Amino acid sequence: MDMPSHSRDAGAPRLLILGGTSEARELAAQLAARGGYTLSLSLAGRTRNPLDQPAPTRSGGFGGVEGLAAHLKAERINALIDATHPFAASMSRNAAEAACSAGVPLLALVRPEWRPVPRDRWTGAADIAGAVEKLGAAPRRVLAALGRNEVRALEAAPQHHWLVRSIDPVAPPLALPRVRYIEARGPFAQADERALLAENRIDAVLSKNSGGEATYGKIAAARALGIEVIMVARPPRPQVETAASVEAALAWLERLPHHSSPDRRGV
Ligand code: NAP
Repeated sequence: MDMPSHSRDAGAPRLLILGGTSEARELAAQLAARGGYTLSLSLAGRTRNPLDQPAPTRSGGFGGVEGLAAHLKAERINALIDATHPFAASMSRNAAEAACSAGVPLLALVRPEWRPVPRDRWTGAADIAGAVEKLGAAPRRVLAALGRNEVRALEAAPQHHWLVRSIDPVAPPLALPRVRYIEARGPFAQADERALLAENRIDAVLSKNSGGEATYGKIAAARALGIEVIMVARPPRPQVETAASVEAALAWLERLPHHSSPDRRGV
């Protein structure tokens, strides 16, 4: 991607944003518009056709904690913002350890989780395997919107009719006798989600507690139709400074000590 001139400012604070979320894109867009930072956005490289990003982008893993710490030093990063998805637990753990070992200030940008409201029929689960178990032994018609790494857990329950939604095709196909695949990328409107649930006579939704607006439509639609949601709790996060919104992350950046500018660190 071409670097806008403000992204190359000599002496401008150098920021690395760990992305893969709408918040990371929005933060990068706002910082690019403001200028005064040298930005880099990092993606895991999982989706075949990632969305365009509003900042210079790198793709692929760093090689664990050591790899990320080495990258922070080599790129003279002044601040790291972990804006990965709330379920990207390994990356967040690595970010916390690498930032600590490289002496780089770290902020986690984590959207608030969804909370049940009246008429929601949620059943909690600790992880995806647990959620599949909580569907029970009797055959049900289930919508599952999961990532490619997680979807294999559904094979433990071949008695259900599965409607599996993912951004990229599930390959190889799941070893399930009754499964239909939909490829789609959010955001998903509540009215469309309601139609999808009704047309497919879905009686349970398997969801991660991702938070945010983009994928809440299925939760609101399930509530409206009286459908049970098996809600997978978020994995534990490292104890680091955390912002719940892009605005709060921008405020944190403004408070960053001046001594963290590349000129003064002498690295
Ligand atoms: P994960 O399990 O926490 O991370 C596994 C490994 O993938 C990490 O150790 C790291 O490899 C690499 N990685 C993850 N995020 C990266 C990033 N932003 N930049 C560079 N490398 C990254 O992650 P995940 O749950 O598979 O998520 C992968 C990506 O998809 C993340 O960017 C996340 O924001 C996005 N995403 C995830 C979900 C979800 O439900 N998990 C949903 C929407 C979007 P190394 O150890 O080699 O550095």
